Amino acid sequence: MGEKPVVVIVGRPNVGKSTLFNRLVGERAAIVEAEPGVTRDRIYREAEWSGREFLLVDTGGVVAAPEGAIEAGIRRQVAQALEKADLALFVVDAGTGLMPEDRVVADLLRRAGKPVLLVANKVDRFDPPPALGEFYALGMGEPLPVSAAQGLNTGDLLDAIVARLPEKSSRQVGEEALRVAIVGRPNVGKSSLVNAILGAERVIVSEIPGTTRDAVDTPFQRGGKSYVLIDTAGIRRKSRIDLPVERYSVLRARKAIDRAQVAVLVLDALEGVTTQDQRIAGMIEEAGRAVVVVVNKWDLVPAERRDAAAFREAIGYALDFIGYAPVVFTVATAGKGIGRLIEAVDTAAANACRRVPAGEFNALLQEATLRNPPPQAAGKRLKIFHGSQVGTNPPVFLLYVNDPRLMHFSYRRYLENQLRAAYDFTGTPVRFKLRRKR
Ligand code: GDP
Ligand code: GDP
Repeated sequence: MGEKPVVVIVGRPNVGKSTLFNRLVGERAAIVEAEPGVTRDRIYREAEWSGREFLLVDTGGVVAAPEGAIEAGIRRQVAQALEKADLALFVVDAGTGLMPEDRVVADLLRRAGKPVLLVANKVDRFDPPPALGEFYALGMGEPLPVSAAQGLNTGDLLDAIVARLPEKSSRQVGEEALRVAIVGRPNVGKSSLVNAILGAERVIVSEIPGTTRDAVDTPFQRGGKSYVLIDTAGIRRKSRIDLPVERYSVLRARKAIDRAQVAVLVLDALEGVTTQDQRIAGMIEEAGRAVVVVVNKWDLVPAERRDAAAFREAIGYALDFIGYAPVVFTVATAGKGIGRLIEAVDTAAANACRRVPAGEFNALLQEATLRNPPPQAAGKRLKIFHGSQVGTNPPVFLLYVNDPRLMHFSYRRYLENQLRAAYDFTGTPVRFKLRRKR
């Protein structure tokens, strides 16, 4: 199991941590958002340089508070991020020079006792050589000058990082974690749900305009299990992306779904299932992902209409192509329903990995075809000789038949129902593949 070393970027707000993070992971995914947003405290990405892989962690999702309201939060999150770090990149701003908050960060780093690489950012010109002498006062050695914005000297920085990486990480991060994508239309409550799942301790919610990113991977542990949340929050109606937001959000959803094992499709209880929801559900089905449907904002449904069974039925009808998805009701803003959501995710993931032994599967096939033989088409009848499971995630069953063209979708549906009646495949699609046998 290749455990990757963890490199954490720390520094006071606005020194360019996020810019550096994006530069080092080789993509510029940050969305700068003009309205108040929710930012998470840590963002992980895999990075690679000179054949060495490591996990880069950005703690930059916190913005400057006007009167230091978030200071305690910064301290806590930096301390938490450092716990797992093999190396800290301590970023300072060459433009502003040494600031009192830099000393606060330096203290935290000293206490954590982790290796530190001092990085002086915003050195946009190297001629004449930048004057960085004042940063020696931090007691962190020689600052390495870079310009994150312009990509100057970042190769040297990567060299320096790789040179300081330990052979093996001291901790494992997200290796066998269950990857869960939170998808849905803008404003259904995805960010709120993510925050509710992660819990207040791991999240800093800021009411101050800040930077939100669009593909956020957040590892967390719950009940001794590891998860990575992949969420598309940060997509806002007023995002400055040129694409229409709806289209952009569909794009992000597809990427998130592709990278996940389980997709959580979030619906707004007041709005019910919209065509956009159906599109996203269709993407999840096509990708073959396990899925859980969340009906959020359940509190906004008037008490006399708050009928879970009726909602389930309506959703089952509107999203019949993922009729196997469990439906969970939540109030993200109050943290309600989160336990059941995680359980449903666990179940869906486990079912997607379920293996039916060949003997049992063939017995099931035999009984199913005896009870309800395949219908005839043009004087020919489908014959199923035998079959076996050939894949998981999603489960795939290969059937050897006389002629694949004779399989009717309704008979396929029948076989699937028989299979689902015998084995718990809640939350996962199952696929049948046909092969001609002579
Ligand atoms: P963070 O709060 O530490 O994550 O900082 P950000 O990455 O959000 O950057 C803060 C500001 O500094 C933004 O306006 C960036 O565009 C700017 N910035 C980041 N890196 C550089 C750089 O190398 N040169 C210059 N001139 N500006 C930069
Ligand atoms: P996103 O765009 O999908 O990430 O949605 P947000 O998490 O930003 O939520 C959109 C709005 O709905 C915010 O004003 C939230 O406070 C609100 N909201 C989210 N979940 C709930 C909920 O369960 N109940 C109520 N009443 N409001 C919610």
